[in-house]
Amino acid sequence: MQRTQIKVTGIVQGVGFRPFVYRIAVSNQLTGHVYNHSSGVDIEVEGTAENLAQFQSELLSILPPLARIDTLQIKEIPANGDTTFRIIESSDTIAEAALISPDVATCDDCLRELFDPNDRRYLYPFINCTNCGPRFTIIEELPYDRSQTTMREFPLCDDCANEYRNPLDRRFHAEPVACPVCGPQLEFVTLDKGTDKSVCPADGSPINKTVSALEAGKIVAIKGLGGFHLSCDAINENAVQTLRVRKGRPSKPLAVMFRSIDVLRCYCEVSEAEEKELLSYRQPILLLRKRADISVCRPYPEGKLTESLAPGIDEIGAFLPYTPIHHLLFHETKLDCLVMTSGNRSEEPIVIDNDECIEKLSDIADAALVHNRKIWNRCDDSVGYFSGSRLIITRRSRGFAPLPVQLETEVAPTLAVGAMYCNTFALAEGKRAFLSQHIGDVDNQATIEFMQESIEKLQRWLGIIPEIIAHDLHPNLLTTRFAQEIGSGKKLVGVQHHHAHFAAALAANQLRQPAIGIVFDGTGYGLDRTIWGGEIFIGDTSRVERIGWLQPLLLPGGDSSIKKPYRTAIAYLHQLFENKYELPEKLLKYATDEEIGLVKSMVDRHFNTVQTTSIGRLFDAVSAMLGVCGVSTYEGQAAIELEQLAWRAVREGSTQEIPELPFIIAVNGNTLQMEARSFFEQLSELVNQKKVSLQNLAYAFHLALSEAVVQCCLVLREQTQLRDVVLCGGVWQNRLLTQLTGERLEQNGFRPIYPGIIPVNDGGIALGQVCVANALK
Ligand code: ZN
Ligand code: ZN
Ligand code: FE
Repeated sequence: MQRTQIKVTGIVQGVGFRPFVYRIAVSNQLTGHVYNHSSGVDIEVEGTAENLAQFQSELLSILPPLARIDTLQIKEIPANGDTTFRIIESSDTIAEAALISPDVATCDDCLRELFDPNDRRYLYPFINCTNCGPRFTIIEELPYDRSQTTMREFPLCDDCANEYRNPLDRRFHAEPVACPVCGPQLEFVTLDKGTDKSVCPADGSPINKTVSALEAGKIVAIKGLGGFHLSCDAINENAVQTLRVRKGRPSKPLAVMFRSIDVLRCYCEVSEAEEKELLSYRQPILLLRKRADISVCRPYPEGKLTESLAPGIDEIGAFLPYTPIHHLLFHETKLDCLVMTSGNRSEEPIVIDNDECIEKLSDIADAALVHNRKIWNRCDDSVGYFSGSRLIITRRSRGFAPLPVQLETEVAPTLAVGAMYCNTFALAEGKRAFLSQHIGDVDNQATIEFMQESIEKLQRWLGIIPEIIAHDLHPNLLTTRFAQEIGSGKKLVGVQHHHAHFAAALAANQLRQPAIGIVFDGTGYGLDRTIWGGEIFIGDTSRVERIGWLQPLLLPGGDSSIKKPYRTAIAYLHQLFENKYELPEKLLKYATDEEIGLVKSMVDRHFNTVQTTSIGRLFDAVSAMLGVCGVSTYEGQAAIELEQLAWRAVREGSTQEIPELPFIIAVNGNTLQMEARSFFEQLSELVNQKKVSLQNLAYAFHLALSEAVVQCCLVLREQTQLRDVVLCGGVWQNRLLTQLTGERLEQNGFRPIYPGIIPVNDGGIALGQVCVANALK
């Protein structure tokens, strides 16, 4: 007999790791024990050499789906003649290094039981097990134990208690375990809109009632894992329009949940990598290209996704059912797909509470499907897309948060509060940075409160007491003020916005050596107090040199111009060419003569203008000049629609006849400036001539920008020998630009670096702030 001690760290708590160890130990006739403690799990196993070897190989090869082993230390120790294998209960010390599991999509075993008429959880909407179900969203305190989750309110019945206590049961220590006898229940509520209540049926189960309402074209608020969704039939144009009007959201794309992967494949193009991610335990929303013609595989009456789901966009934010409630809805309904958009009002955080739902969503929804399991931690759906085989996450939330990012270098206890748009915060210590769930746009009181409350929780759970508080340099952001309020006695560090973007990308790729950073972004406060967003850096986490930029131009009316791209276009053309130009016809449709005059005079007198190098604003101007989007109703609309138009050129194979739109790179000593004049001159002329199609012009713009990046990098390589080029900042959410630039960089011997599952937009800023604040010398 031999005995081996194995110390494991990683995601090994709350993910069914101990019962898994128990099962493989027993099946290999081993004795010994497994024990949970603050920094991981310790295993001791005793048996024959052969069985021990088999155990070790199974330990690594058939891990539970959620578990992740980061380190494994194996040591031979003397045998002690144990006769059984035991799970030793943890001594409840605060699990300082234990990780909090994200919520997990319903597993196949649970789905089988859910639809098995002989199972005691047949059609039970809260079925879950050790491998699936709510986690992060129900945790009130650590260590993770039922008594410290919102499931505390549901004492286990005898059957559930037996499963919970039996190490061989697949619900052993599944903290949210529940059944129809002892667990949470659904309820269907009609919301009083003072209009038409007739459609909400009087009888049937809450699921049936919800389905009838949805099929009748009504809007239902549905309580999910991390918050409410607003749902309606995604094929029903009227329903979608009503939702848009009531939510005051005229054109921002709405996410759609499809019945199954097979059905989804009928409506959208899905690659192998995309399919795998859509079906993973995280089940994010992925942006997928809509199929042009679905009639071949889906003879659904009028089975076409309505254009108004994502106006001007050939893609759809698609995902699959990830809770038993979703599965039950699709089980009952004939509908293929449902809109599932965040249940919130304007820019506030998503609603998580039943009373709050009635108070805040009754203007929008006709009815609500609620339940009595409390959501303790709000958590939005994650959003991403694939670029080739690479998963790019633009909103890192459900399924990802609050798992840590492994850092290359140790950091002091740090809180980073992020910036403003699609914000997250980060708490870090040692080599781990915990990036929070999606917080939202921190420009209102409700969101800052949500952020504050989430910071307090995460600090308590992780036991991190920040010594450093990092924030954006912009003095007027709510997050900056918040940092100052809580920062007394701590080291407050302001981090330049684009340096943070750059550092986040370096951290995501665990890069330490200097690189070229191409930071293309919407808005960020620059060191010279102007708005930056088209910056070229050379440096690393500790220090960057701003070596290049897009030609600075005056933006009229500061932030308000973000909503009116046509004003940006008018202002840019005016300052570049004074009166020697003709405004493109397309642009004239957005503005009156009076407004045009006003914008011009603002520029002439430098009145209420701000200087910017933003590539986001450059996209706005081009989008308006082509008549694609002159007025933006959501963040990034003008750029997104312009990209979509350019993709049409790619799909229709017309990219052979693309005109050249040059950005001249002016080299001045050690610095570079991408000149805008020649570019706009050419573009205006081509728009006015109307010989080149708009989609080809849109493509030409993307191409020109990617060429400009490569030209700048070539100059910089001469000076520095650097070959690593980091593409970061929100503009790189543009897949076409990323693809064109990446290809060209590679052709020229560069190594393009992408941020991957750390959001390339401002959702990754907090991580960058952590790194920079700790590296600044
Ligand atoms: Zn399960
Ligand atoms: Zn029960
Ligand atoms: Fe940014």
